[in-house]
Amino acid sequence: MKSRTKPLLRVWEWQADAACRGMDSAVFFPPAGERGTARRRREDAARAICRTCPVSDPCGRFALASQQYYGIWGGYTEAELRCAVRHAAPGTV
Ligand code: SF4
Repeated sequence: MKSRTKPLLRVWEWQADAACRGMDSAVFFPPAGERGTARRRREDAARAICRTCPVSDPCGRFALASQQYYGIWGGYTEAELRCAVRHAAPGTV
């Protein structure tokens, strides 16, 4: 009998090689009420890490497919992820 957890683990396999693995997640996820310069600085710091990440493509695809609108995924900001989903052709996300 096959394990029921394997398909779930496979979905997250790319995370094993993530540049952000073990880092403080506060760089990628905003505190409540964050705005303006503080938000841009945090997002820039997160995106700089994402640019070095070998799994940014699967990370971004996962975020789009699962409609993650909170935090930086694959180097995309929340606004960019929302925009990409809104403008995606039906059935592509
Ligand atoms: S692309 Fe960014 S958020 Fe995604 S796994 Fe890599 S470092 Fe983490």
